[in-house]
Amino acid sequence: MFFCKKTFVCLVCGYDRLPGPLYNDEGIPNVSLICYCCGFQPGYDDDELRYTLESYRTEWVESGANWFTEKEKPEKWDLQEQIKNIRV
Ligand SMILES: [Zn+2]
Repeated sequence: MFFCKKTFVCLVCGYDRLPGPLYNDEGIPNVSLICYCCGFQPGYDDDELRYTLESYRTEWVESGANWFTEKEKPEKWDLQEQIKNIRV
């Protein structure tokens, strides 16, 4: 079986190999998690910091869509393909 290990999709960039969900069932952010791709950390999207998932994504894409953890970046990475995972 290829998909026996459950992975989760980043709601910001569509990266689909997160080790856990960004938010649990109650909507509580998992602040120990950080996306390897866009560097989004759950809990950033709160009112105090004035970030939403959308504004974080826009800023990240506009600044060049750089990987937070460069060594996790696949050789043939395509942002447009990846972002289809979240249908934005
Ligand atoms: Zn991400």
